[in-house]
Amino acid sequence: MTDQTRNALKELQRLDEEIEEARARIDDIVERIADVDEPALALESEVGTTRGRLQELKVEERRVELSAREKGARIERLEERLKGVRNVREESAVSAELDMVKRSLETEEQEAYSLIDQVRKLGLQLEEQESALEQAKAEIEPRRLELQQERADQESALAEMRSQRAAFVETVPDGEIRMYEGIRKGGRRRAVAALTEDGACGHCFSVLPLQLQNEIRHGRDLIRCEACGVILAQPSPEEEAADDDGADDAEAADAAAAAVDDGDGEAAE
Ligand SMILES: [Zn+2]
Repeated sequence: MTDQTRNALKELQRLDEEIEEARARIDDIVERIADVDEPALALESEVGTTRGRLQELKVEERRVELSAREKGARIERLEERLKGVRNVREESAVSAELDMVKRSLETEEQEAYSLIDQVRKLGLQLEEQESALEQAKAEIEPRRLELQQERADQESALAEMRSQRAAFVETVPDGEIRMYEGIRKGGRRRAVAALTEDGACGHCFSVLPLQLQNEIRHGRDLIRCEACGVILAQPSPEEEAADDDGADDAEAADAAAAAVDDGDGEAAE
């Protein structure tokens, strides 16, 4: 692995981190939109329930009215029959039926009045709920539009990042990409970490043997941390500048590594 590839993988990791951050921002916006919508959704569900109940009551009201009308007609027929009865037995039978139908009609009329009243009250309640819903929707609309715009912006930024990443991947050897993806597939975000000034893994901070430190700094092979498995890259100039106190240690490490190389007869690169 060349330094260039290591740096390329670091760059790829940086792009992936940006992509993950963008996705997290979008998730956050989606949550905020849900929060903004919540009061209106609650009102919407109330309106739905009231509408349903009103519909049921109206059906019931029609049923009772229809039944009352039928009873009214039946009473008229029975009264007609009562006029033409031929004997007392027939008269008492028709009268009894007439009384029964009249009582039943009375009950139904009471029921109809009660239903009419309920329908009226529920209709008023529905109007109030509908106007509260409209008001709530109007109130949240500007914030909602703002968040939707924010989401659209983030989505297009994310799409841009993804196409940048795809273009960048083309420039890195397949084998390196596969290794990088393989490390990340295990669910970990970091696949590449810089070696610290004092020769430790920049991800898990376990100190590497001097020989490996030297290979990371100067060698061509791909070195992975034995403890955590990340690909170890040379620190970038900025990373080195950020840790000035470590410089002496690093020189000492280099010197020590060079000494190891001399020891086993291999020249440090
Ligand atoms: Zn490590």
